Amino acid sequence: MECEDHINRADPTYDCLLFDLDDTLYPLTSGLSKEVIKNIQEYMIQKLGMEEEKVPELCVSLYRQYGTTMAGLKAIGYNIDYDDFHSFVHGRLPYELLKPDPFLRNLLLSLFFTNADKNHAVTVLNRLGLEGCFEVIICFETLNPTNKDDSSENASTEIFDFLTYSTCPDSELELPSPKVVCKPLEKAYEQVFEMVSINPKKTLFFDDSIRNIQTGKRMGLHTVWVGTSQRTEGVDYALESIHNIREALPELWEAADEKVENILHAGEVPVEATVIA
Ligand SMILES: [Mg+2]
Repeated sequence: MECEDHINRADPTYDCLLFDLDDTLYPLTSGLSKEVIKNIQEYMIQKLGMEEEKVPELCVSLYRQYGTTMAGLKAIGYNIDYDDFHSFVHGRLPYELLKPDPFLRNLLLSLFFTNADKNHAVTVLNRLGLEGCFEVIICFETLNPTNKDDSSENASTEIFDFLTYSTCPDSELELPSPKVVCKPLEKAYEQVFEMVSINPKKTLFFDDSIRNIQTGKRMGLHTVWVGTSQRTEGVDYALESIHNIREALPELWEAADEKVENILHAGEVPVEATVIA
């Protein structure tokens, strides 16, 4: 591929940048994530009929165990329609909280890896003025292409009592296995590497979640933890904000400039291509 040749010439260390979306490409202070959590909790109460007082704790503990709350709800036995969940949680978000980010726009021409659904990813990117910056968007639907369960397995599923389980970790109860593929499951990273032919050793991965970063590191990626300047295990670089990328990795910026120049010379424009599994 012509683009890859340019990147390899410009920067022998990395030939791919892999970005998380939420709280990475825009800051936690935007307030959008708080709204997401509120909507997820409302979904659990209104659509799944859960007791209101149990919801906040369950929401967090399922997130910790399964990568996302929705992946956890699915694992413990709720038969959730993915599209219904995503439109409830993301469909009503105050996206006007996000403002265009021309600084980032000039930097990004890379790959993209989010647990969110495609509508949310596209809306956020449009709001930030980053549409067209990414060659590939890897989102929920990429890794979970089928909305419905294989029904035979789920027809008589009982709901697993996760709160009781989590207060009694020595319990002999077996934890349900995940049904949704998402970060930080190693399987999610493996699928991404294969789908878009990523060499993790030449890829720089940006995420605000330390567990996503640490799994990424185990999977061979170079890692940038976004949202803090403190480095810890599994973190190669730590950035208070994605805007600090230029100071932390100047060589990347130079390489990106050279790449854009080469593309302009070749008369090409960056193309956003969505991976469809
Ligand atoms: Mg995130």
